[in-house]
Amino acid sequence: MSFQEPIHDVAQLASVELFTPEFEESLWFFHDVLGMTATEDDGKSCYLRAFEDPYHHSLKLTRAPHAGIGIIGWRASSPQALDRRVAAIDASDNPGKWVENNTGYGRAYEFSTPSGQKQHLFWDVDYFKPTEEQKSKLLSRAQKRPLRGIPVRRIDHVNLLCKDVTRDSDFMMEKLGFRKRENVVLGGDELASWLSVSALVHEVAFTKDNAGPGNRLHHLAFWFGNSGQMLDLADITRDYGLKLEAGPGKHGVSQGYFMYIIEPGGNRIELFGDVGYLIFDPDWKTRTWDESNFMDGGAVWFGGDLPQDFFVYGTPIVEAAMEENAASEAEPAE
Ligand code: FE
Repeated sequence: MSFQEPIHDVAQLASVELFTPEFEESLWFFHDVLGMTATEDDGKSCYLRAFEDPYHHSLKLTRAPHAGIGIIGWRASSPQALDRRVAAIDASDNPGKWVENNTGYGRAYEFSTPSGQKQHLFWDVDYFKPTEEQKSKLLSRAQKRPLRGIPVRRIDHVNLLCKDVTRDSDFMMEKLGFRKRENVVLGGDELASWLSVSALVHEVAFTKDNAGPGNRLHHLAFWFGNSGQMLDLADITRDYGLKLEAGPGKHGVSQGYFMYIIEPGGNRIELFGDVGYLIFDPDWKTRTWDESNFMDGGAVWFGGDLPQDFFVYGTPIVEAAMEENAASEAEPAE
């Protein structure tokens, strides 16, 4: 029996860049509402991190004309692991290049998914250095829990809209060692997949972009570790006029407690309450949801249905698709 030797060369999701046309309002959301700590602002981007994120930043918030996603940063498991993955991608028909002078991490290998989503893989990182005031007595905590908003503990995952879920998933599995934990196949078409390099169900997910050109953000997720905090945040979103799109509820896929907020710049942010379930089985087989069960527990296990916008909206926003969606929702049911 042949068994594919697993690749353990990518360690974790380290950072994601978001574009925002409403910079000050977005910064208020991440800093004041989600309690993230700003570490640097170079005039183009502000760098922020959750209080247990260990590095210089986990979010790069960039001033831009439109909402959307920039570069996704992954930390390799070792310098040797980085070299192995670079060799694998260099040998493919979609090679990358080395880029220097990055903020928060050292030399990085820049490459794209087949759909064109830019990513960086690196080993050298700048660790966050708390001030005396910020230092926690907990030796495992990168800084004290902030006294702002409902502070998130760490970055969790990113969900990308793409034109070909299978092609992008295969690339992440074959070149980087991701494992496909769950997916959705409807009518023989793979519409979504959840992939991870760790015991988490996913650090990245791909969703078919039925409403746009692909290479868009569906959502970026941060983790609380305590689903009760989502109720506090839901209360705050109502008081401060933020758009609470869905939740709090529980997904069947990943078993995560979710809540989706549209931040002021337009990007969808998921707040993840707990870890869902963890996978330690080295021979885990992809769990496939289909017509018989996805809308009966896969999408939402409990907590109310996801709105139609959830399956159409992403950033950059495709206005025509949103107008079409609004028109179809306004039509009387037959
Ligand atoms: Fe998610």
